[in-house]
Amino acid sequence: MEIKLHGTSQINQQQHLQIGGVDAVTLAQTYGTPLYVYDTSFVRNRAQAFKETFATEQVKAQVAYASKAFATVAMYQLMHEEGLSLDVVSAGELYTAVQAGFPAERIHFHGNNKTEAELRYAISEQVGCYVIDNFDEIELLNRLASEMSATVNALIRVTPGVEAHTHEFITTGQDDSKFGFGLLNGQTEAAIQLLQTKAHINHKGIHCHIGSQIFEMDGFITAADRIITKMAEWQMTLNYTVDVLNLGGGFGIHYTDEDEPLAPETYVRHIIQAVKQQTAALGLDLPEIWIEPGRSLVGEAGTTLYTVGSSKKVPGIRQYVAVDGGMGDNIRPALYEAKYSAALANRMNEPADTTVSIAGKYCESGDMLIWDAQLPQPVAGDVLAMFSTGAYGYSMASNYNRVPRAAVVFVADGQHRLVVKRESFADLVRNDLQLRGE
Ligand SMILES: *Cc1c(COP(=O)(O)O)cnc(C)c1O
Repeated sequence: MEIKLHGTSQINQQQHLQIGGVDAVTLAQTYGTPLYVYDTSFVRNRAQAFKETFATEQVKAQVAYASKAFATVAMYQLMHEEGLSLDVVSAGELYTAVQAGFPAERIHFHGNNKTEAELRYAISEQVGCYVIDNFDEIELLNRLASEMSATVNALIRVTPGVEAHTHEFITTGQDDSKFGFGLLNGQTEAAIQLLQTKAHINHKGIHCHIGSQIFEMDGFITAADRIITKMAEWQMTLNYTVDVLNLGGGFGIHYTDEDEPLAPETYVRHIIQAVKQQTAALGLDLPEIWIEPGRSLVGEAGTTLYTVGSSKKVPGIRQYVAVDGGMGDNIRPALYEAKYSAALANRMNEPADTTVSIAGKYCESGDMLIWDAQLPQPVAGDVLAMFSTGAYGYSMASNYNRVPRAAVVFVADGQHRLVVKRESFADLVRNDLQLRGE
């Protein structure tokens, strides 16, 4: 089986995996394992591809990094350098963005239960846009903005009755979701009308997000068509014009060879074409188009390096090979049977002629990283590289079994830079207090 390398990954003269011009085995030795390695030129290329497609088509747009995929100071700074906007979903992500010096006017605040404290913090930081999720939030946000003598920009999140996963999408009339206002059941009109009475909220437009790891355009196009059809109605009946149409994220990426994602340019071009066509057909002005890629900006840029430890043969069934990480640094296989591919970073020239299952070191039978991986027979001390771990790996990491969270390194052009330190044992007990005494 041939190994498909992403981004700027190559095999070097030592037959080692090289990422962004840096030997992965050297990285493992320098920083220890498990180690998250990000090829930042991959992230920058993706960011530019999304942005430049809008520029080429001369469409006013914002590309917002949906930062729950990987939320750290250094990545926020990189996204700022690339001119992207930023989605945050909590005060913690907002705080991280503030620490990173990310301009508040390009931060968009999402979430279905923003607390009063979170909203006060966001208003005090002058966050650029709120994506309002429900009627309670309209009341709360307007009251807080009024108390703080502010006027805030907002979109409302709608559920267009479209749900997309990978190759399929389903349309449902009555969208049963915890997020957003129903587009087709009158809730959206009620929200628009309520917002027309709120002096401290500037209602700029509509947001939807239909799913993730999507490989086809039809879900996006159906959602856009449904919203734009409503836009024409709202202009007539409510005297409400949508200035911003945010179609969310969810653009698919390559984890294994079963995945065949579209290029960022293709996703964007099809979205632009659909929005242009439908607005023109209904005699509407073209709104600004916003998108929110998360996984597709950082997922394939990330590789996790592990050290191989013990192994166990179950005669006639399979061989388990354990590494020094697992569900604590990547919960996705255990959480939703996510599939990954891997290679031995120190033996890239050897044929992948053995089938082994990669186990984590955590105390759960479900702590498996890859079932039936094709590799050269791994031995203790090998460096296992697991690909496309850049999204929802570190950001979902835990301290289960009191394992310190792994370090993060950025690589590019033969240079490497530590951007998140490995947690220490002292970090693990930092918030623990003694049973007795002062
Ligand atoms: C998670 C999320 C995204 C990004 O999804 P990806 O699959 O990572 O691209 C975008 N918008 C919203 C509202 C989200 O919740």
